[in-house]
Amino acid sequence: MTISQAVIIGASHAGAQLAASLRQEKWDGEILLIGNESAVPYQRPPLSKAYLAGRSTLEELAIRNVEFYAKQNIQLFDATVDAIDRSAGLVALSNGETVRYNKLALCTGARARRLPTPGADLAGVFYLRTAADVELIREAATTAGTAVIVGGGYIGLETASSLRALGLEVTVLEATERVLQRVTAPEVSAFFHRIHEEAGVSIRTGALVQALTGESRVRAVVLANGESIPADIVIVGIGVEPNTELAAAAGLVVDNGVLIDAQARTSDPHIVAAGDCASHDFARYGRRIRLESVPSAGEQAKVAAATMCGKSKEIAALPWFWSDQYDLKLQIAGLNTDYDEVIFSGDPSRDRDFTCFYLRQGELIAADCVNRPRDFMFSKKVITQRTPVERSDLMSAPAN
Ligand SMILES: Cc1cc2nc3c(=O)[nH]c(=O)nc-3n(C[C@H](O)[C@H](O)[C@H](O)COP(=O)(O)OP(=O)(O)OC[C@H]3O[C@@H](n4cnc5c(N)ncnc54)[C@H](O)[C@@H]3O)c2cc1C
Repeated sequence: MTISQAVIIGASHAGAQLAASLRQEKWDGEILLIGNESAVPYQRPPLSKAYLAGRSTLEELAIRNVEFYAKQNIQLFDATVDAIDRSAGLVALSNGETVRYNKLALCTGARARRLPTPGADLAGVFYLRTAADVELIREAATTAGTAVIVGGGYIGLETASSLRALGLEVTVLEATERVLQRVTAPEVSAFFHRIHEEAGVSIRTGALVQALTGESRVRAVVLANGESIPADIVIVGIGVEPNTELAAAAGLVVDNGVLIDAQARTSDPHIVAAGDCASHDFARYGRRIRLESVPSAGEQAKVAAATMCGKSKEIAALPWFWSDQYDLKLQIAGLNTDYDEVIFSGDPSRDRDFTCFYLRQGELIAADCVNRPRDFMFSKKVITQRTPVERSDLMSAPAN
């Protein structure tokens, strides 16, 4: 039996940060970082961007190089954890081994939601969550002429932009009435719709996928209205589901993610969790939220590492995100939950740089900044500090 002290399950953004932070917090025992992707932890956001477009290698995506882990005495272990035995303080690996832990961290992330449609298991239908997924898409794209992307969220739109760069004809199918409906104001959706159409992407909204057809390979996507759209490859980007089965089977509280408190503790105070697999109560937003972003995975991991070392840090940072499409860098500060007003600096119906400020009862709560890095920095600060702002100041927001 291998003896270990700090065991981290999941070796991606949250797990890699947690391991590094444990050393910064002076954890002097062993650290075992268990992951099942057979790769040194790598950055996931470039998968739908530079990596898909063939502009970077997997080595370039490494979060930290392999020497870092050796130097910090962090053991990278390639295995899947099948079960947690909390009363014995053991995790069971799929290779039959067991590993003892004194402290355990769950950083199991999320997986792509599957398309529940007939034909979804045909060859040529892909998901985009891992480097291995992208390698398959890239290979298929070399002989494909047409790609249909199911889902007009960030991943779908980034994928559209990368596949256009590879020269494919691209159609995006979005079930709701506009792209990015869940996350942005209608004007911002309209902006991205326009940008993609200008780049030659066909966007179909209100498009409900009924079936994927083909013999053994996919040939077409059939919509609920009976229309058939030819497709050499189909990429499904309809959101993710958190990997919470291990936690649930171990009796931890799960509510759209492993429930954690402000110190990243699960319902078992000896076990922490961080990243896409975890949800927690945000006093500011008055609800429980599971964030899917690199900055929040990093912050939660730092807090979790402090907690494992008996120190007290709290999850407090403002959520923020980004998305790259074509020459556009979208940076989002805060969450626009329940906004009742938007103010624009710049004109999204015309410009390629603008900011959409979201207000609730006059307070700035979020901002979508397109090619406006200074607006983003300004918004992050104002939203974090809850500084009162004049509407006129937002309209003439800092020049970038
Ligand atoms: C294509 C794409 C583009 C994105 N773009 C952005 C972006 O622009 N900006 C942004 O902020 N975020 C972006 N995200 C989201 C971001 O990548 C995630 O928020 C981040 O990866 C979360 O990190 P994590 O470590 O919590 O989980 P994950 O990255 O999901 O990693 C979890 C790891 O745990 C492993 N694992 C799970 N269960 C087990 C087990 N039982 N045993 C062993 N290993 C296990 C998984 O295989 C995986 O390697 C993007 C995501 C994708 C897929």
